[in-house]
Amino acid sequence: MKQIKYLLDEDKIPTHWYNILADMPEPMAPPLNPQTKEPIVPDDLAAIFPQALIGQEVSGERHIEIPEEVQQYYRQWRPSPLHRARSLEQALDTPAHIYYKYEGTSPVGSHKLNTAIAQAYYNREAGIRQIVTETGAGQWGTALALAGTAMGIKVQVFMVKVSFNQKPYRRAMIETYGGNVVASPSDKTASGRAVLARTPDSPGSLGIAISEAVEIARQREDTNYALGSVLNHVMLHQTVIGQEAILQMELAGEYADVVIGCSGGGSNFAGMAFPYIGANLTAGRNTRILAVEPASCPSLTKGSFAYDFGDVAGLTPMMKMHTLGHGFVPESIHAGGLRFHGMAPSVSHLYHLGHLEARAYPQNTCFEAGIQFARAEGIIPAPESNHAIRGAIDEALRCKAEGKKKVILFNLSGHGHVDMQAYMDFNAGKLVDHEYECEQVARALQDLPQAGV
Ligand SMILES: *Cc1c(COP(=O)(O)O)cnc(C)c1O
Repeated sequence: MKQIKYLLDEDKIPTHWYNILADMPEPMAPPLNPQTKEPIVPDDLAAIFPQALIGQEVSGERHIEIPEEVQQYYRQWRPSPLHRARSLEQALDTPAHIYYKYEGTSPVGSHKLNTAIAQAYYNREAGIRQIVTETGAGQWGTALALAGTAMGIKVQVFMVKVSFNQKPYRRAMIETYGGNVVASPSDKTASGRAVLARTPDSPGSLGIAISEAVEIARQREDTNYALGSVLNHVMLHQTVIGQEAILQMELAGEYADVVIGCSGGGSNFAGMAFPYIGANLTAGRNTRILAVEPASCPSLTKGSFAYDFGDVAGLTPMMKMHTLGHGFVPESIHAGGLRFHGMAPSVSHLYHLGHLEARAYPQNTCFEAGIQFARAEGIIPAPESNHAIRGAIDEALRCKAEGKKKVILFNLSGHGHVDMQAYMDFNAGKLVDHEYECEQVARALQDLPQAGV
């Protein structure tokens, strides 16, 4: 077996991000310009992203150096801890070894700061004064608000309306860090006004909020847009998670047989999984990789692998990805961070090529898993992370049934301290399990843009 190469400093923090594009078995389909339907050129993106991030989006370099200032910032909480869930193993009476990497120790409570700080850094270096973004459950807006303040940049957040109302504490966190929040759909943009005219009581969606943010970023020279998931450079920044995990597992004398992450746009999953998939592809490893998504927004397990927009208004480039259709508005589940109609093109591509598996669970069974985990390990997980825990517990129960000792590793993407309303609703028996709506998806898929290539 080949040695896996890591680039770490003396504190065991990665000095480079791992770029899986260098190891893709087949090249990905290029993103297309929404007007010309031709592959986009870097200039198409220059109105909303800094050059450095556009470069990372298309880079073929395997290891990309993390700027010293970003590394310094990472040192506030990285390397994040890796725990063995011994009490959970006992509670399940499984021969499996269950490990989890805990990203909830970041100041904002999730993995999102890993990319927020890098994105704010590159925007500041490019002379940008303001970043506009969207947020679902509020974690991304929170992370970017803090990162913006750290780098001296103003942050404006369009927050999906259902979360804006369900999660006032997250809103308060964004404001505490110095960000500005608006409920989306809003009357501040043409895309928001168009949705309100059609559906005045729209709960909003990430797709709508992205349209609003991109619209504003395009109008101003000193303003850029930032995305918290989906794009290649976001997956790249999150690979600190998996690189650290491989090394920490090595210190524990183990290598993961199964790696699991919850998957909304795909970033925490990719952050954990890509270094392992890289080892599968280049170092003769054979780890099973599992993405877990909500049954109400099952882009990998039920979506089409096709060109689609990232947003409702069709302002973003067309990306080839697993999608439920850009017009699909998922049910208002509590794992707001998993309500995106598409999946990262890189994750979709690897899924299409058979390098990962996917599974969808309804929310109640995920909360049951999260509560079992909390009682055993003490950490109350984010509702999104509960999907990964459900996946890990089911794998551990399968090991028990088959009498096999396997090493299971999952990413605990964040804590749920600001999501206690969701736990209260679950405890009161108020959570509804929505299956995705076949008809709504069929309709949304009819509106997929014609790629013409
Ligand atoms: C945002 C978020 C997710 C979902 O986003 P991905 O890009 O799929 O990782 C999952 N867990 C937590 C805690 C989040 O904040």
